[in-house]
Amino acid sequence: MSYQIIVEPSGLRFTAEPGQSVLEAALAQDVPLKHGCASGSCGDCKGKILEGDGQQGAFLPLLLSPEERAAGAAILCKFKPESDLRIQAELTRAEHWQAGIVALEPLAADVMGLWLKPDRAFPFIPGQYLRVEVPGHAGVWRSYSLAHRPRTDGLVGLQIRRAPNGLFSTQLFGQLKAGDQLTLSAAQGEFRLHPDSPRDILCIAAGTGLAPIEAILEEAFARNLDRRIHLFFGAKRERDLYHVQKLEAWAREHPNFTFTPTVSDPEDSHWAGARRLLPTVMQHGPWQDHEVYLCGSPGMIEAALELLRSHHSNMDQMHFDAFTPN
Ligand SMILES: Cc1cc2nc3c(=O)[nH]c(=O)nc-3n(C[C@H](O)[C@H](O)[C@H](O)COP(=O)(O)OP(=O)(O)OC[C@H]3O[C@@H](n4cnc5c(N)ncnc54)[C@H](O)[C@@H]3O)c2cc1C
Repeated sequence: MSYQIIVEPSGLRFTAEPGQSVLEAALAQDVPLKHGCASGSCGDCKGKILEGDGQQGAFLPLLLSPEERAAGAAILCKFKPESDLRIQAELTRAEHWQAGIVALEPLAADVMGLWLKPDRAFPFIPGQYLRVEVPGHAGVWRSYSLAHRPRTDGLVGLQIRRAPNGLFSTQLFGQLKAGDQLTLSAAQGEFRLHPDSPRDILCIAAGTGLAPIEAILEEAFARNLDRRIHLFFGAKRERDLYHVQKLEAWAREHPNFTFTPTVSDPEDSHWAGARRLLPTVMQHGPWQDHEVYLCGSPGMIEAALELLRSHHSNMDQMHFDAFTPN
């Protein structure tokens, strides 16, 4: 027996089979429900259950406040209907771009810069991500953050880490070349600079989590924010760090900006022993008066939020983007 789902305010209808999440069912029927990671970590598919019942599966706890939960909010990629539902949810334009690869730029041992030229203007807000369809796998998409502000030449730059046996990243590091075409989704996501806050800024980036943080920093510099900005950038080994010279140059150009690289592997560092990301951040605190921007693995983000909260930081000042594996 399948369940009927009505989406408000559009009135669009689709069905879900038992065991399917609302998002899975929507995507299977080409209903363009707004979503991001599809694994409970980004919150882009947040909606509201207006009528009906279901089971809310696991998601990153900070995505919904207790008040939102009490008001019926749900993370729809992890919400499985147990009756017919009427939900409130956003739909997206299912718009796609074709983009030619302009350049592949090795940035570190396992990190590649990918420069693309979309076939028409590609609008985005610094901090957002796009999705790339994996070549040869129709309908299979991977999310990547845009690593800069919109540019006058219209190019789009990504920073991509090689995942072990990764469907897309293995192609990127082995087969893809300049001139090949990729299909892109529209930019999405809520991670962005909050320019009107009066607070100083703390940025924490792990691995390719640096990509949207660089975009947000470029935006802060372009707006001449006079708030102090601290960036801590962590990788496992020193050879996994990238853009260090660029970030050091930014620190020389912008007196309000400081940059601290860290590595967690003590055997591969010119610093005496390991200088791990979160302990280093906390040594340089206190941070409770800062606006915080975090990007990296869900584990790093949860650990950082927990640490900051235990040091009296207010959750309203935290902005984060979790790179959830697919
Ligand atoms: C909103 C968002 C933004 C993102 N932005 C970026 C970005 O800017 N740069 C970037 O490099 N990635 C980013 N990611 C992660 C990216 O979408 C892919 O998950 C990643 O590139 C792996 O894809 P793949 O096809 O190569 O590997 P898959 O085929 O998806 O995975 C292959 C194997 O590797 C494992 N795996 C995947 N990722 C990791 C990992 N990080 N560490 C350890 N094991 C892993 C998988 O569990 C699986 O076993 C983002 C994710 C999200 C949700």
